Amino acid sequence: MKVSTLCIHGGYQPENGEPRQLPIWQSTTFKYDSTDDMADLFDLKKEGYFYTRLQNPTNDQVAKKIATLEGGIGAMLTSSGQAANFFAVFNICEAGDHIVVSNEIYGGTYNLFSVTLKKLGIDCTFVNQHDTEEEIAKAFRPNTKLLFGETVSNPGCKVLDIEKFARIAHSHGVPLIIDNTFPTPMNCRPFEWGADIVTHSTTKYMDGHGTQVGGCVVDSGNFDWESHAEKFPGLCTPDDSYHGLTYTKAFGKMAYMTKLVAQLMRDLGSIAAPQNAFLLNLGLETLHVRMERHCSNAQKVAEFLSQDERVAWVNYPGLPDNEDYALAQRYMPKGTCGVMSLGLKGDRATAVKFMDSLRLISIVTHVADARTCVLHPASHTHRQLSDEQLREAGIAPDLIRLSVGIEDIDDILDDLRQALDKI
Ligand SMILES: *Cc1c(COP(=O)(O)O)cnc(C)c1O
Repeated sequence: MKVSTLCIHGGYQPENGEPRQLPIWQSTTFKYDSTDDMADLFDLKKEGYFYTRLQNPTNDQVAKKIATLEGGIGAMLTSSGQAANFFAVFNICEAGDHIVVSNEIYGGTYNLFSVTLKKLGIDCTFVNQHDTEEEIAKAFRPNTKLLFGETVSNPGCKVLDIEKFARIAHSHGVPLIIDNTFPTPMNCRPFEWGADIVTHSTTKYMDGHGTQVGGCVVDSGNFDWESHAEKFPGLCTPDDSYHGLTYTKAFGKMAYMTKLVAQLMRDLGSIAAPQNAFLLNLGLETLHVRMERHCSNAQKVAEFLSQDERVAWVNYPGLPDNEDYALAQRYMPKGTCGVMSLGLKGDRATAVKFMDSLRLISIVTHVADARTCVLHPASHTHRQLSDEQLREAGIAPDLIRLSVGIEDIDDILDDLRQALDKI
């Protein structure tokens, strides 16, 4: 089946007489007839449900759908995108290890890696993803365990050269982990370009309606952990917390996914609520239709803004003069997503006047859902910083982040036009 069909029919498939829509299994626990039945589950000898912190049928069906959409062998839902990125990394890293990460990533992930992981003893080196392979390779150390980047970065809209990153990771014997939140598997499937593990903040386009905060980790099953066993003792040597079981020996290609669930989720417990998984699944059913509209609307908005003399600059990889246009065409010929950034001629106050004049388009911290929205980091998320400090943080004081929704394009353009007339 094509990915569009999988958005609707992937994951849950009802048997004869069962509910057509995915049921919400709102239950913490599951009943068994005998002690032995339950014991086999705890020994990981049989698959089955016993406690929702580990697995829940609603969550698993949605995870399965996302795995199918990405072309992976398995997936696990988490309570947020932050949890997904943390779990994806922590599953193969421990104190004393090191990771290499593109500096074009979401601010929350940047903090997670540069501050919180450091406190756990995991060191991080940030690299410029546009640098050459030789330059990026210099960041690797003997204890480096992975390379990480975002397909399309939030908020910078920078496009990752996935094949280049995969080559660098694999030549150092480590997996490439890609946060594929912005393009979604509708526009890019990083496994097809050599990525090994994919993460998502499902809070964004996958949900698409701003109803739940969630995340997901997907494994391609392609990375050969055993060939680099000395680097990944957590997967390739016995786990004391599971009676000395070795994940790669017991589960083969599913080693990474099994450890993620059986060890990390068991111990850290950032599960998605089944109710949220249900809402996410509803969003996924229309993902293919929505992404097309997000991209076609955003392309028209970017073209409109770049031709308006009151606009100083527009950053959207779908514009031919964008520095990442070629990369976007190569990896995402159907479009990147609905998010772009722009600056107006003027100063901070001009941006504020423009935003306050918008009527249809709302001011929110969120991005990537059905409603067009804007954010001015200098007045909102980064308002304590001076213009100078903002520039040091890589954020232009005039930068407005615009997330183009799926309303009628004429209404979006009309609103932008009337707000520009007010500045
Ligand atoms: C929003 C976002 C996250 C964090 O996800 P939450 O669901 O808010 O925890 C991670 N990565 C990217 C690219 C994001 O846009």
